Amino acid sequence: MKIIDIINGERPSLSFEVFPPKTSDKYDGVIAAAEKIAALNPSYMSVTYGAGGGTSDYTADIADRLQKCGVTSLAHLTCVSSTKEKIHEELSRLKGLGINNILALRGDIPEGADAAKMEFHYANELIEEIKSFGNDFCIGGACYPETHPDSANSIKDLEYLKLKVDTGCEFLTTQMFFDNNILYNFMYRMLKKGIDVPVVAGIMPVTSAAQIKRICAISGNALPQRFLRIVDRYGDKPEAMKQAGIAFATEQIIDLYANGVNAVHVYSMNNPDVALQIKTNLSEIIK
Ligand code: FAD
Repeated sequence: MKIIDIINGERPSLSFEVFPPKTSDKYDGVIAAAEKIAALNPSYMSVTYGAGGGTSDYTADIADRLQKCGVTSLAHLTCVSSTKEKIHEELSRLKGLGINNILALRGDIPEGADAAKMEFHYANELIEEIKSFGNDFCIGGACYPETHPDSANSIKDLEYLKLKVDTGCEFLTTQMFFDNNILYNFMYRMLKKGIDVPVVAGIMPVTSAAQIKRICAISGNALPQRFLRIVDRYGDKPEAMKQAGIAFATEQIIDLYANGVNAVHVYSMNNPDVALQIKTNLSEIIK
């Protein structure tokens, strides 16, 4: 099934993300976690591509395993340090496995990389390549309610987002955010710019104080006072922090659904327990 049809459906969509292992000895553990999350029957699951040093070769494998569990999978694909040949190889592989959904991303530029030598520079170029490959893939892309950290400003970022959508990106998944008003403002600005594809809200349940520094470094997120108070109070009590982080994420998701954002993607960090608790908290809401 295509992601666009899932997120355009009547029922609120709740999906989860997994990431491949960094080393082969962790592969079985990741598969076991991914399959436990799949058993929760999410709307779909996404598998990241080489993020954080993960092995890109595993993305298609894991996406395939998920589909065999009966869950539609969304395979991420990044282009920035890649060649056309490698991208075509990956697309052929996905096509052969019957994986029809791709989240097309630039990826982060390695420090000191020479842009002139790169075959791909931006996600819109990857989308163009996927379109020309054929196979009628459903293509999604990323967007940044708090502006992409490399952008000159939020206006430029929206201009390039429009270009990405006009090139063939059918839906957008957001970077994580912790204040829903940031998303609502962003969606208003998107609409004014003529970007009207469905937006999937990316929610990260923060379950440990250690996660926070890393999140802010990656995404430049603003953390609301309400959230910081939770970390101050429970940051050194792991079980309490986990419970509070899941409750905070649940509340964010309920508010999103109530305000018409019908698709939520949970950055579940290969943690079946977090996915289970979020799903359980929403059981009546997503029925
Ligand atoms: P782009 O859309 O190419 O934008 C990157 C920057 O360039 C922005 O500042 C934009 O304003 C600007 N820009 C865009 N197009 C142009 C243009 N034509 N000319 C000039 N400037 C332009 N990383 C991974 O390595 N693996 C993953 O699996 C992964 N999954 C992700 C999933 C989501 C939902 C999100 C939000 C991010 C993910 N990332 C992943 C991180 C992502 O790769 C980085 O944030 C990366 O820096 C930007 O990728 P992008 O596709 O958004 O880039």
